[in-house]
Amino acid sequence: MKPYDVAIIGSGLGGLASGVMLSREGMRVCILEQQAVVGGCFQSFCRRGYRLDTGIHYVGSLEEGQTMYQYFKYLGIVDRLNLQRLDEEAFDVMCFTDGMRYAHAMGYERFVNRLSEAFPHERAGLQDYCRKLQQVGGLIKPDVLRSGVLSSGGMEYMGLSARQEIADSIRDERLRNVLAGNNLLYSGLAKKSSFYEHAMINHSNIEGAHCFVGGTQQVADALVEEIRRHGGDVYTRATVTSIHLEGDRVTYLEINGGEERIEAKEVIAAIHPLRMLELLENNTIIKRAFFSRVRALENSFGLFTTYLMMKPGRWPYQARNYYLHNTSDVWNRQADYRGCNISTVLLCMQPDEARRSTEVITLLTPMPYEMVARWEESRTGHRGEEYEAFKAHYAACITAFAEAFFPGLREAVAAVEVASPLTYRDYTATPQGSAYGIVKDYHNPIVSHLSARTKIGNLFLTGQNLNVHGCLGVAVSAAVTCSELLGVEYLAKKIGHA
Ligand SMILES: Cc1cc2nc3c(=O)[nH]c(=O)nc-3n(C[C@H](O)[C@H](O)[C@H](O)COP(=O)(O)OP(=O)(O)OC[C@H]3O[C@@H](n4cnc5c(N)ncnc54)[C@H](O)[C@@H]3O)c2cc1C
Repeated sequence: MKPYDVAIIGSGLGGLASGVMLSREGMRVCILEQQAVVGGCFQSFCRRGYRLDTGIHYVGSLEEGQTMYQYFKYLGIVDRLNLQRLDEEAFDVMCFTDGMRYAHAMGYERFVNRLSEAFPHERAGLQDYCRKLQQVGGLIKPDVLRSGVLSSGGMEYMGLSARQEIADSIRDERLRNVLAGNNLLYSGLAKKSSFYEHAMINHSNIEGAHCFVGGTQQVADALVEEIRRHGGDVYTRATVTSIHLEGDRVTYLEINGGEERIEAKEVIAAIHPLRMLELLENNTIIKRAFFSRVRALENSFGLFTTYLMMKPGRWPYQARNYYLHNTSDVWNRQADYRGCNISTVLLCMQPDEARRSTEVITLLTPMPYEMVARWEESRTGHRGEEYEAFKAHYAACITAFAEAFFPGLREAVAAVEVASPLTYRDYTATPQGSAYGIVKDYHNPIVSHLSARTKIGNLFLTGQNLNVHGCLGVAVSAAVTCSELLGVEYLAKKIGHA
């Protein structure tokens, strides 16, 4: 078979978005996905007739003219998405066990006004905080793209602490916790999380938070359609088992242990960098020290996901996410390490097509890998009774915790499904089932932010480990990687003017 221009390993958003960008610019592309279904964290699956999403619950900057919208427009899928705008008065609600609830509202003016009702003495501080978020979010806005740049800087914010930057603007301890209360979205670590990540994610949600109705698989499927429409190939059940090198070039990829070979002029690894390094065969270029450096980088915690499949019509839909806190210090999640003493849960509702009732409630809570490590030699579906009992027990604890905030919840549940970090590890090949990949430590941004280029001339990296994770971060990283082949100015303008 004639070599492809580009072979892409992995069909998460990083791989698929890169596949569309390159194929629509005339390159012959193939995507190689180990699973039977494309999408990585965008994959949806069915249980008992309910559609469950794996790793995307809401996405920001999706109003027309905003950055994520512009990327989806360029990728050719924006008109095909079934989106639900979240409640502009309260898209995120921070709940504390003392009964207090505080809303993050959409749009900066509304955001400041709503929080100033509860914290009138902090109006100026909130304005200062919002100004900083806008500075960071503005680095990748469509105007920047149209000027021929993908991102107009950011390193200065990557070296700032999220916790400290909030504290510099805000004096009130409770308000500081309200602003950081969704830090589960970026694996909030008091001593590591950067303001850059905090601001990119919060800015995009304050601008325009939406969720997908009918499953996040629609995004992956639409991207695959675009790739095929532009002449690309997408292969599932195609695990790349080695990346074969000769000198400083990849010559071919071995599929499913030698079943097939794929030749390509360029290769993009849209998978965890450690996995990419483990696949290299005949490597004389990348030094042992780099392997050790990547191995030593900390990965974010995994998430334990409890899906509550709701009895039909029993739970009215609310276009809001609730962060349930059992702690007054949201940076301190020590309680999670002690079994069923839950400290933080994110509760998201998945609506039916009419947006009237909730079909599925997803409860997400951080889970350190140590809690599931004893089953790490097993594979999904074959972990044994003890593991099943652990999952059932933990899911029951989390549901009871959520019930304390939402009385009557359990009574409306028809069935429960669970995914642990081991499930994510097996489905996405992310080490330890980490939710967001490499932790971006503000103390050392240069070390924890990897580059799209590798020392192998025709091998590139993309995906959540490059810049910021999440839908927006991964789309931007795909553009950064593809710009190595297409040129930054050319690609940025194409996206910006789409
Ligand atoms: C539980 C959870 C909730 C989340 N919630 C949100 C949210 O609400 N909003 C948001 O914006 N972000 C969210 N995120 C983060 C977001 O989902 C990810 O950052 C993003 O989707 C990662 O995309 P990716 O392409 O880098 O990697 P992935 O989606 O992990 O894709 C990697 C793909 O590569 C494949 N692969 C791996 N190795 C091989 C191989 N050797 N050969 C072939 N294929 C291979 C895998 O099967 C997988 O399909 C969440 C993540 C998790 C885990």
